[in-house]
Amino acid sequence: MSSPSAPTVSFELYPPRSEKAEAGLYETLEHLATARPEFISVTYGANGSTRGRSLAVLCRLRELGVEPMAHLTCVGTTYAQESLVIREFLDAGVTKFLALRGDPPEGSTENDTFLGDLGSAGELVQLVHRVQAEKEQFTQADVPGFPRAKRLKSGAKVTIAVAAFPNGHPRSRSVQQDLDTLLAKEAAGANLAITQLFFHADEYLRFVELARAAGVGMRILPGIMPVLSEARLTKIVELTGERMPGELLGQLQAAGSTEAQQRVGIEHARALSEQLLEGGAPGLHLYTFNQHHAVLAVLRSLGLAPGAPGAGIIPESPISVSKGIA
Ligand code: FAD
Repeated sequence: MSSPSAPTVSFELYPPRSEKAEAGLYETLEHLATARPEFISVTYGANGSTRGRSLAVLCRLRELGVEPMAHLTCVGTTYAQESLVIREFLDAGVTKFLALRGDPPEGSTENDTFLGDLGSAGELVQLVHRVQAEKEQFTQADVPGFPRAKRLKSGAKVTIAVAAFPNGHPRSRSVQQDLDTLLAKEAAGANLAITQLFFHADEYLRFVELARAAGVGMRILPGIMPVLSEARLTKIVELTGERMPGELLGQLQAAGSTEAQQRVGIEHARALSEQLLEGGAPGLHLYTFNQHHAVLAVLRSLGLAPGAPGAGIIPESPISVSKGIA
């Protein structure tokens, strides 16, 4: 694997739950913007529960001159509802999406009708392209003499990212199924993949190698989370179904104080990122937990963000999550 251009940096955060959290998040966005990210993605609650708050953060990012990426989930919605949401985001100037199926509600089965019209992330990818193409055609049909070929090509401007799972999706039966799913998402029109978090570089590097052999051509960004406490590590492992990284757990337990645990988490993410970039990863996608200190400390230590290297001390925030750590 080789990566000829400079590594990209991107972040994920979630919409704030209160006015106080909103003020804190907007300050965080300004700090994150100093790393000149390719984009910052904003999570989306199951069944559209965070739509308004997600959109407000996406618009704030645009004001700051940062490319926003909107997560979209489709479980439990109809074509018509999902089309309206996509259209609303496009109208707000969002042109990057992370298309996800989302997790079915606890206790439901695959055959439950309320799971909605869209059965997979691939179908959502196609829908985003369709709504974008319709919007372009509608907008430009009013322009006299606008060449039709140009209208149709404009759909290519949208970035549609999808999720990838280096250690397998919890519901997947085999690595091959995960690779086939990723390939199908690309065939549907996805042009970027972002991975679930993982703890060892070889898990990502091996997965990318297998994906390339299977015919996946799009960029695959590794998702990295600085894990700043034992409690957070335990929760993350529970939510994602990832295997517990024994060595990191031991280091966090041995560290003792909050500050020492934070240093362990930042150093682990730094070393992991370094190995990934050396292995040819095209960039780093960092899960922020709506805090800038740790992710910027990681990037500074790699020379990927301005400022002197050094770990900041971070107040622990509550864990807010979809199963994708969103
Ligand atoms: P799909 O690609 O459709 O399927 C995922 C996997 O499940 C595939 O590997 C496939 O093989 C397997 N699979 C699918 N159907 C079946 C089946 N019937 N039987 C067996 N296996 C099957 N969730 C949110 O709610 N909001 C978010 O903002 C959010 N952000 C995320 C960001 C990232 C980077 C990641 C990695 C995940 C995120 N998630 C989020 C979680 C995501 O919604 C879940 O992981 C969900 O279970 C899968 O979504 P998908 O888009 O990968 O689905």
